Amino acid sequence: TADLSIQDVSKVYQTVEGTLTILNEVNLELKRGEALAITGPSGSGKSTLLYIIGTLENPTTGTVQLNGQNPFELKPAEQAMFRNHEIGFIFQDHHLLPQCSVLENVLIPTLVDKGATKEKTELAKSLLDRVDLTKRIEHRPAQLSGGERQRVAVCRALINNPTVLLADEPTGNLDPRTAEAIGSLLLEIGKEQNTILVCVTHSETLAERFEFRQELSDGKLNVLATGSASVYSEG
Ligand code: ADP
Ligand code: ADP
Repeated sequence: TADLSIQDVSKVYQTVEGTLTILNEVNLELKRGEALAITGPSGSGKSTLLYIIGTLENPTTGTVQLNGQNPFELKPAEQAMFRNHEIGFIFQDHHLLPQCSVLENVLIPTLVDKGATKEKTELAKSLLDRVDLTKRIEHRPAQLSGGERQRVAVCRALINNPTVLLADEPTGNLDPRTAEAIGSLLLEIGKEQNTILVCVTHSETLAERFEFRQELSDGKLNVLATGSASVYSEG
């Protein structure tokens, strides 16, 4: 069975010009360890779909099941906890806190629970080591390169062992070489951590490295590639 299941999800806005259907009964099923790239024209609803999976936006109709639970049936406080534990976000801009060190930034998602426990601090250090940032743990984000900041953001997204990693244009602000490295890192670390990876991207180069690819257009997801036709390559 799927660890992430989206059934007949629609997103409809009422505007002065009338009804605007952004997502039209979208369906999607993914298991842990699978990686999906979502492409499509600007304004086609890619971010909206990602934010619905991430419980940052509500669907107008339809259901989302993540790890056996429908997050939209939870009370707000429970939903916030669910989001913090089940979902890791990576944005185009790293969204790191400038006044905090690299290590502190990675630990931010733990603060609403028990705080930065010894165990979580060790995990943060091992994640940072995994992305070759051990020498940077006491530095501030401003002291890092764009690629390094995005690597910190990847560690922060993984600190609570989420079921799904959601990336919105994660390489959009990076030069091509750094973008390729971050793409490789996301694909590799998603497998290592056995998380679902859903990545919205404009980059064909990045999308082509994903085993599953879907294009969003006119409110519908169209399959471009399934796992069996994988062209996944080690970068
Ligand atoms: P993408 O990520 O593919 O560029 P988005 O998900 O960001 O697309 O946006 C999809 C569409 O939804 C856009 O055309 C945007 O203008 C529209 N949209 C977003 N929020 C609202 C809103 N509150 N009211 C009306 N339209 C909206
Ligand atoms: P966009 O690219 O569409 O401008 P952003 O990447 O700036 O979107 O962020 C989208 C929204 O998600 C913002 O409202 C932001 O405050 C919120 N957000 C960012 N990080 C988190 C998080 N870890 N948990 C909850 N909400 C977040």
